[in-house]
Amino acid sequence: MTKIKFLGTASAWPIPRIGCKCKVCKSKDKKDIRTRPSLLIKNKGKNILIDVSPDFHQQALKENLTRIDAILITHAHEDHIGGLDDLNEIYKLNKKTITLFTKRRIFRLINIEYPWMFDKVLKFRPLKKAFKIDNLEIDYFVVEHSVFTIGYIFKIRGKKIIYAPDCNGVKRKEKIMNPDILIIDSTKEFNKQNSNGHFSVKNSIKFAKEIRAKKTYLTHFDHHSTHKKLQKKVSKIGNFEVAYDGLKIEV
Ligand SMILES: [Zn+2]
Ligand SMILES: [Zn+2]
Ligand SMILES: [Zn+2]
Repeated sequence: MTKIKFLGTASAWPIPRIGCKCKVCKSKDKKDIRTRPSLLIKNKGKNILIDVSPDFHQQALKENLTRIDAILITHAHEDHIGGLDDLNEIYKLNKKTITLFTKRRIFRLINIEYPWMFDKVLKFRPLKKAFKIDNLEIDYFVVEHSVFTIGYIFKIRGKKIIYAPDCNGVKRKEKIMNPDILIIDSTKEFNKQNSNGHFSVKNSIKFAKEIRAKKTYLTHFDHHSTHKKLQKKVSKIGNFEVAYDGLKIEV
């Protein structure tokens, strides 16, 4: 059994936003409390972390996460790498260097900001082609966003899972067609246009249909809609689920 856990499902800032009086930020529903984006895959006893959110410390405490075996980075925006320094604590517990996979041009940016992390805590491995960690196959594809960004393709026991938390389109879709599970950027309000390199909900749904995803999880949210209201709306459209912090999928 492979478990996928949403550690954080907000966009660049957590929800509730500081001082905001909107319906989402004032909501009492736990599903409307969102930390910044990280995803955890648990497979064969290994913990694979996709992006290290600035809220990683809190996420790790909540999940009782004391070991990370590999890290995959989508891009060098702060909401996806701001927790890297917190990995010092994980290193102290295990005394084991963690391999960080990403494209070289993304690593260059990370290394400017966090050079000390690559002394002993992390070791960089450039992504070139598909590789495996145990029986989990990992590949990537380039997405359109405001900076150079990739999404990930996971294959396990005949299932294909796509993760692209920051994205407003994909030019070359061959590799990502027909996924069993798509986890996709839905930062902007339903009927708005894409902006700042992010899909609106309407356009992430359109994209999911284009690539014929069997099941889609929407993620990376601004405070535009409560979980309950948006879930009701997207359920009428098809097999769409509004992700929330702590949501678990078993594959
Ligand atoms: Zn982001
Ligand atoms: Zn708000
Ligand atoms: Zn971004």
